[in-house]
Amino acid sequence: RVAVLGSINMDLTTHTERLPRPGETVLGDSFENSQGGKGANQALAAVRSGATTTFLGAVGDDAFAGELLRTLTDSGVDVQFTRRTTGPSGIAAIAVDAAGENTIVVVAGANGAMRDLTDAERAVIADADIMLCQLEIPVETVLAGATHARANGTLVVLNPSPVQKLPDALVDAVDLLVVNEAEAAAIGSDVTDRIPHVVTTLGAAGARYRGPQSSADVASPTVDAVDTTGAGDAFAGALAAEWSTGAEAAVRWACAAGAFAATRRGAGSSSGRRGDIEPLLA
Ligand code: ADP
Repeated sequence: RVAVLGSINMDLTTHTERLPRPGETVLGDSFENSQGGKGANQALAAVRSGATTTFLGAVGDDAFAGELLRTLTDSGVDVQFTRRTTGPSGIAAIAVDAAGENTIVVVAGANGAMRDLTDAERAVIADADIMLCQLEIPVETVLAGATHARANGTLVVLNPSPVQKLPDALVDAVDLLVVNEAEAAAIGSDVTDRIPHVVTTLGAAGARYRGPQSSADVASPTVDAVDTTGAGDAFAGALAAEWSTGAEAAVRWACAAGAFAATRRGAGSSSGRRGDIEPLLA
């Protein structure tokens, strides 16, 4: 059982020939809404890899809230304990130009209201085998969750994204760190060396595992990558879902999950089910 403690956003994406300058209005070509937020994306990846998955996060009371929750429930994520707060859901306003350059404004909305933990959230974390978190909700809440998980024998997995300085108490509560190379560099080896298991993703090259007993370089299956947005989230969710099968096997599975996501457009919706991922391992 996986509990994901993290963010959920509605991504509002406009496509335009060129991005507007300050004060300017441009006419766009197309627009779409899609579910995003690293927490929700990773919850979807975990449930699609076959883990019983509960999402602990918050939506607002706006029109996006129901749609966001539906993307999770449609895939089988338990949102029974997801908070419904007053005010807006988290959003990301994204503009993409013809060259693929983008500007993004993220407004935390309900994600920013994830302060303290409710009794129900604490119970879910204590009952889970693994708690997976990122840094798109207040870091104090991540720390509270990690400390509570640790005290109850729940394995703590942290994907420290967007990267920021980690409080010492959080570093000490993490069992497994999942980082890309930029995050690993920003955090520094003096910090990562204190964490028992570290998985570093290396894009198309796969991932590196360093644990107390063993280390391994795992290659990613070769795919025709279309859009690597969401590959990191697919990797983290799949890794948490498969962790109980052993570190190296789980990293291999996660590489295949990341590779599959790279063949699909979008983020949350790009993670694969077991039947999509298994053929890439053959
Ligand atoms: P992030 O997007 O967080 O920087 P990465 O780019 O390292 O993360 O991608 C995460 C994982 O997704 C990689 O470890 C790899 O398994 C898979 N992946 C990403 N891009 C590709 C690709 N072009 N081909 C195959 N696998 C990929």
